[in-house]
Amino acid sequence: MTSTLERPIAFDSVFATVSAIDDLSPHLRRVTFTGERIGAAVTAGPDQRIKILLPPPNGSELKLPEGEEWYAAWCAQPAEERSIMRTYTVRALRPELAELDIEFVLHGVNGPASAWAGEVTVGQTIGLILPFSVDTTSVKGLLMSGVDYVPPATSLSRVLVADETALPALAGILEQLPAGVRATVFAEVPDIRDIRPLPSPGEVDITWLPHAGAPEGTPTSLPEALDAAKLPTDVDFAWVAGESTMIKQIRRHLVNVAGLPKSAISFQGYWKRGEAME
Ligand SMILES: Cc1cc2nc3c(=O)[nH]c(=O)nc-3n(C[C@H](O)[C@H](O)[C@H](O)COP(=O)(O)OP(=O)(O)OC[C@H]3O[C@@H](n4cnc5c(N)ncnc54)[C@H](O)[C@@H]3O)c2cc1C
Repeated sequence: MTSTLERPIAFDSVFATVSAIDDLSPHLRRVTFTGERIGAAVTAGPDQRIKILLPPPNGSELKLPEGEEWYAAWCAQPAEERSIMRTYTVRALRPELAELDIEFVLHGVNGPASAWAGEVTVGQTIGLILPFSVDTTSVKGLLMSGVDYVPPATSLSRVLVADETALPALAGILEQLPAGVRATVFAEVPDIRDIRPLPSPGEVDITWLPHAGAPEGTPTSLPEALDAAKLPTDVDFAWVAGESTMIKQIRRHLVNVAGLPKSAISFQGYWKRGEAME
């Protein structure tokens, strides 16, 4: 059976200027961007993925791939000459102010995006690939619009697993969790000082896994924490996002130990240890 989309989905590139920088914790920096066309951008869900574009490796000026065929145009350029592209989450969009927030993990200078965020100053301009039209009328439409957190409308008990790169998405997911829905959450962060409040109208039980500063004898990684946890018996949906090897381990655990059907698990590799991710 083939299904068609109800609404057109359109992404396009924009120049965006840094208007504010806030350090949320030692490893998470919120950067606010402004730009005329940001006012016309839209999101399809709390984990809306977008792209950032930085100047090419050969040091030439940033040129944006434009129009509906932006991705093909970007791919057609030699690697040294095309803009550096990385994937991020829209943490907040304020169309009325033409503003958008991205929360960057500061994982060091070994990646161009993290290095850029570590040195960013107000007034700098980069490129963003943003959605200007999304289809929220079907699961397929949502997935194609760049969101992966698509729980069934009937879901009442969810497991959410995120490392620090998925913390911005997790924060948005919890903000939008309906009252009466339960979320059993596991969140891994580099340092105990990266733990922060994640407000939600839902019923949230959160286990934090700081790499540094965790009390002795407590789990420090997501797979260890899941192994040690007793999950609610009524879990009907899981969303797992973070490092590629980790998410596969968690998915195996949820299927083999917790007995969740594979179809009830959305799992997304946000980064891969030792590899650059475009
Ligand atoms: C859908 C989606 C949404 C995402 N949302 C966000 C977001 O909102 N905020 C955010 O910070 N990231 C987010 N990411 C992850 C981000 O795209 C990657 O971390 C990306 O690799 C960062 O690019 P870079 O240029 O810094 O490093 P790269 O050039 O891609 O990688 C260089 C090196 O850094 C390592 N590395 C990459 N990320 C990390 C890390 N977090 N910790 C330790 N080492 C790392 C790589 O393994 C590699 O060895 C998201 C990814 C996806 C797919």
